[in-house]
Amino acid sequence: KRYNSSIAGLDASKVKVTKSDILKPLVANKDLVFGHTFTDHMISADWNEKEGWMAPEIKPYGSLALAPSAVVFHYASECFEGLKAYKDKKGNVRLFRPDMNMARMNRSTARIALPQFDGKELIKLIGDYIKLDERWIPSERGYSLYLRPTMIGTQEALGVNPPSNAKLFVIGCPVGPYYKTGFAAVKLKATTEFVRAWPRGTGDAKIGGNYAPGLLPQRLAAKEGYQQNLWLFGDEHQLTEVGTMNLFVLWKNESNELELVTPPLDGSILPGVTRDSILSLAKQWGEFKVSERKLTMPQLKEAVKSGRVQEMFGAGTACIVSPIKAIEYLGEELAIPLDPSNPESQAGPYTKRFNDAIMDIQYGDVESPWSVVV
Ligand code: PMP
Repeated sequence: KRYNSSIAGLDASKVKVTKSDILKPLVANKDLVFGHTFTDHMISADWNEKEGWMAPEIKPYGSLALAPSAVVFHYASECFEGLKAYKDKKGNVRLFRPDMNMARMNRSTARIALPQFDGKELIKLIGDYIKLDERWIPSERGYSLYLRPTMIGTQEALGVNPPSNAKLFVIGCPVGPYYKTGFAAVKLKATTEFVRAWPRGTGDAKIGGNYAPGLLPQRLAAKEGYQQNLWLFGDEHQLTEVGTMNLFVLWKNESNELELVTPPLDGSILPGVTRDSILSLAKQWGEFKVSERKLTMPQLKEAVKSGRVQEMFGAGTACIVSPIKAIEYLGEELAIPLDPSNPESQAGPYTKRFNDAIMDIQYGDVESPWSVVV
């Protein structure tokens, strides 16, 4: 987006780089815990409504100084993104569909009255930042640098108003494969007591305010031995998302056709980059029907009981796919098949195939416009 000429847009060419004097010791791949290790530097840029975006900075990773009255602490003026940088076999650094994360972040900022920014400029800044911190990008397959672009409202004011000041920052953490020992299928608790999101709410925006209310239901599910909540909506118990992932079901539908179903983007679901990638791949393969449509728990339960469900999985940047092996619904545990041809396997054959096809592109083993060398 271009801006009204009197206020400045985010401009990567104006970046001021301050290198850290002390570089931290790297953490061995095997010791990485998701989201616990941060690189040496970060990106930061301030915005105010009169002047627009100030010159961005790449500077040592460190604490922010904010007033206790800053709006982010009171009204959750915060949104974020999650994407990864990968190192390919030639040593190139690649991002996976970063334009989609930039577009989604601008939709999130718009939804909570934070400013827009030029996504291409932020991708350039991210390129500069990850080249500076390149030693933190693991080269082993399955490992990557997880990037967390974030925007917060920083205005010092307790009035409930669109913020006049904001800060954009990006931090990065080296991360390993979600499942260290290969796939580990999860059990879900179909949550009927709490609702994550609803049409015309904010479920389709990646704002911090959507996540804190999920923590208690998550803890309650974990106490009963379920790794994730299966979020439902409405009296018909429509399936929406699983934990912080989009949801897929591969089944023989009511007309006995093999069909991959994912809930539609009706405003209550985050439009996942992985979701979109899986839908595209499935359409390219052309081996089954692909549908974005409503699916309810009673329909799913009937399909499980009649043996029509073949595979179910969650999909998101952190793990790509997360196979599902059981769902607790109203006191009953429904068993979801994994791989009938291999009782040892923790993922169904199509679940694995989606995972491998996406990884091949992310690591540059298969050329694709989705993988962008920075
Ligand atoms: N749903 C929610 C609620 C999420 O937080 C995420 C993670 N961003 C996803 C789905 C998956 O999105 P993506 O594939 O873009 O990571």
